[in-house]
This record gives sequence, structure tokens and C-alpha cells, in this order.
Amino acid sequence: MQHARFLVPLAVLGGAAFLALPTRTEAYTTIGGSLGLAQRDFRVFNNFTDPTANDNTTPDANFPGATGVALAMWKANLEWGSRLHGNGNGDPTQPGGLGSGGANFDPSWQGLATGVGGTNDNIISELSGSSGGTLAYCETPIQDGWRIRFYQDAANWSDGPGSTAGGQYDLQGVGTHELGHALGLGHSTVSGATMQAVATVNGVNERTINADDIAGVQAIYGVAAATKPIITNVVQSGCSLTITGSNFAPTGNEVWFTRLNNASGDPLKVTNVTSVGGTSITLTAPTAAGPGDLLVKIPGSANSALSNAWPVSPQGGTAPQSYCQAAPNSYDIFGATMAYSGSTSLATNNFTLVTNGVPPNAACLYFFGPNQAFAPFGNGYRCVGNPTTRLPIMNASPFGDAALTLNFTTSPASTIPANSPRNFQLWYRNPAGGGAGFNLSDGLQVVFCP
Ligand SMILES: [Zn+2]
Repeated sequence: MQHARFLVPLAVLGGAAFLALPTRTEAYTTIGGSLGLAQRDFRVFNNFTDPTANDNTTPDANFPGATGVALAMWKANLEWGSRLHGNGNGDPTQPGGLGSGGANFDPSWQGLATGVGGTNDNIISELSGSSGGTLAYCETPIQDGWRIRFYQDAANWSDGPGSTAGGQYDLQGVGTHELGHALGLGHSTVSGATMQAVATVNGVNERTINADDIAGVQAIYGVAAATKPIITNVVQSGCSLTITGSNFAPTGNEVWFTRLNNASGDPLKVTNVTSVGGTSITLTAPTAAGPGDLLVKIPGSANSALSNAWPVSPQGGTAPQSYCQAAPNSYDIFGATMAYSGSTSLATNNFTLVTNGVPPNAACLYFFGPNQAFAPFGNGYRCVGNPTTRLPIMNASPFGDAALTLNFTTSPASTIPANSPRNFQLWYRNPAGGGAGFNLSDGLQVVFCP
């Protein structure tokens, strides 16, 4: 049977008097059950209709890949996490303080869903209409998952990120409350607690869990154990990730990623990962890992086996970067400029060099090398230093584009290593441009993944 755990506006309830007083000193209550390690994933179905529910389009480095209501809900759940999420920043109302639970509980952000899902699919979405002043509710029992719905007509919803405007309700704050239900908490009578049954219009207080909420989540999941793995930093180089922290297992660790286009909600797990001294893990991000969080799970099924969540954006490793300078040619006053398509994964083997603004049908060739340069050459600039390797001569299209898909299984592209920068440039003939009769594009630096 599904029970609705809901949050209503203060104005409707006229206070929290309807709640039964708890019998212990702490004022938090529990609804029974907890989220095991198989239920830490959560997603947002972004069907929210108020323009102000999705008008925050500013990305945040601590929450890569998310804006609008998705960003607000990600922050809402991370507030319950065991320790600071990254450097704890991202919420202007609690700078440096996001991630206050201190319990053996940490969630795994799994991005956007494509529907509202079932009652145990751990998806947050909007529901049309209204219901007696209820703002939102969480469907339980939580043991096999939950679902949270926000009533479309119950409020003028705002995604923040700062304080909300007049008459609006804060999605992040109400989300923090509803996610408290998903964790197993009932309502609290403590004034100012996130789990109070009432929300105040314009208020963002619910975003910050208070001592009573912290006592509640610690009662359900246990105070963060001394043996719980801890992530303190993640450094990315190409597709290689180095996770620094403590309490990692020597062998058998799992690294959980946010899965790209996640239909199931399950985290993307890399298994049988070893650590160095329990404090460092280096691995290659899978190509299906998207921007999000990563967590480390040591062997075992206890709540304390899963680390805190740490933001990471491993998709395609480091994005290829343009550099140097294109010079004007007879066809394009901006010259020929480098672009690319396909994956930077050598194994995927579909990376394609693309150049626009090349004189139509011009004879041309790409060349590459490990070093950069910047020196006048022909009618343009040479951007790749010695030593260089040439790719086959070809012709630009009648529309002034050149493109070449690299084949990493045959020479010379097979000599390109992973995790070491390579710089690419297009040389092309341009007699109509006068001068030396040839010119070059700008440069493109690429770090390939295995
Ligand atoms: Zn509630």
C-alpha cells in the first residue's frame, strides 16, 4: 500500500499542531525502513511547467551537466549526504556547507529520467493539478524505492539558486524535505527543522538540514562509521581519473558513476578496482559515464561500505581544445578552423577531424605531433612543432569542408597513445590567395582515451 508523505504550506495548516508529539527527546520521527545500497540512485523527470522552475541556466562546477530543477533536486539530496559534496559549494544559501548528514547515507545522482516512473523508481517529477493545499508528496514504503511528485497548481515553483521571489515556493527546499521522507524520516515538531510538516512561502530554510534532521538521518543509517570510505579529491587527466581519499579496500572496490542517458536508474559500476595503500584509486572512466557524481564502494553490503559522492565530468575525457590562429584565405576571411566529431576513445575508433572555411576542392592534408608551435608559415601559421606526422593528402569538399576519420588500427594513427596530448592542423593549397600559394588552419589539441 502506498502512503503519501506530504508537505503543505504553512498558510493551509495554520501550524503544525495536527502532528502527534513524539515520545522521545528528539523530535524527529521515522516512517520505517531505509534505503539499502541498491536504492541510492535518484533521477529527475523534468516535466515542470512553471517557467521559474527552470530559469536557472547557470551551470555549477560542483554539479556538472545539470541546470534548472535537476540542479535544485541534486543539491536537495546531496544536503543529506555524509560530508561536503566536493568543496561544499553550489548553494548560495549555504556556501561551503552542502552535505550535512554525517550518517552512513550518500545518494547517487543518475541524471534525467524520460518519464515519471513507477512508485519505486526513485524519480522526482511534477503532477498536474492540486490536492487540498499539499505542495508535494513522497510515495512509500521506501524499502524498494520511492517516488516524489510536486503538484503543478499548488505553488509557483522556483529553482533558485538563491532566495525565491515573492509568492514563489523553493523547489530545492521542498525537495530536501520530500527526500527526507524518501530516506525514512517522518515529520518533526522542531521549529526550523527541514522535516517540519509546513513550508513557508519564499523560504529557503528547508534547504539546510538542522540538528534534529541530522539526528534523524543518523538514527536510521548510523553515524558515519570510522571505516566508511571517504573521497577527498578527484583529478582528471584525459580519460584517467585519480580518486584520493581514505579507507578504500586493497582490492574489490567498486566505482559508481552517473550513467549517460540512464534508463534504468542504476549507477554505472566499474568493479574489481584496486587501490594503492587504501588512499588512491586510478581508473579509466567508461565511455558510458556522464557528468555527475562518483562514489566508491568497498566490499560488503553495510551502509558504511559506500563513500560520499564527488562531482566529476568524465564524458569523453578532456574536451579537445582549439589553439593557435587561422589566417584569412581566398574563400573565408576567418580562415580555415578546426573542429571534430566522434569519440576521443581510441577503442571507439571514430574520431573525425573536421575543418571549415577551406577553399572548395583544395588539395589538403592533416598533420599532427606532440608539440605545439606558433610561427609564420606560407600565408598562415604553423601550429604543430616538430616532430610531425602527415596523414594522407585529400581534397576539401565543394562546400569548403575537409574531414578525415582517424583509423587507430593502422599506421600512422595507430602510433597515437592514450592520455598524451596530440596537436592537429590542416595544410591546404590556395593559389588564389596569392603569396606562398598555401595556408593552414588553426590547431586542435586532443587527449585520447584508451
Ligand atoms: Zn512531509
